[in-house]
Amino acid sequence: MGVQNESFLSKRLESVCARLRAHGHRVTPQRLAIMEFVFSSAQHPTAQQIYEALQARFPTMSLATVYKTLHLLEELEEVAVLGVEAEGARYDGAQPVPHAHLVCERCGAVVDAHEPAQQQDCLALVKKRGWLLRHWRLELLGLCPSCQSAPAQGQEPSTRADVAHAGGDQPY
Ligand SMILES: [Zn+2]
Ligand SMILES: [Zn+2]
Repeated sequence: MGVQNESFLSKRLESVCARLRAHGHRVTPQRLAIMEFVFSSAQHPTAQQIYEALQARFPTMSLATVYKTLHLLEELEEVAVLGVEAEGARYDGAQPVPHAHLVCERCGAVVDAHEPAQQQDCLALVKKRGWLLRHWRLELLGLCPSCQSAPAQGQEPSTRADVAHAGGDQPY
């Protein structure tokens, strides 16, 4: 299920470990496993999901360790934090380049929408306006194909007033 091939992943792990050490951080087996997981996942997992996925391998690892490692990786700009969802921040480490996301408001799916041309347009716009880009966040919210065809759960996909009358099962 990796989005990149293995040699790319191992090269990336090697270089990020070197960067962590250069910044005075230790690379523990837990940290390595967290990196490996987040760099190879296309699912944009939450810290909790990463923690649960690694429980069997590292039963004594705490959720705080996961957060701390993600925070370090965020500082090194090796993972991006997405501003989605009530259940916690989602972390994106699979594609260490700016890209947009399609976000399903019903099931919470987050899918990469990486269009290099659009990325160039956005970067050109930022430059043209004389801004300094510090974080990239481009999220397109809606319903994924399977949620569009699933019957409504009696729960509105969104609480926004302008779609409140659209009806739960009516595509828009
Ligand atoms: Zn969905
Ligand atoms: Zn992504």
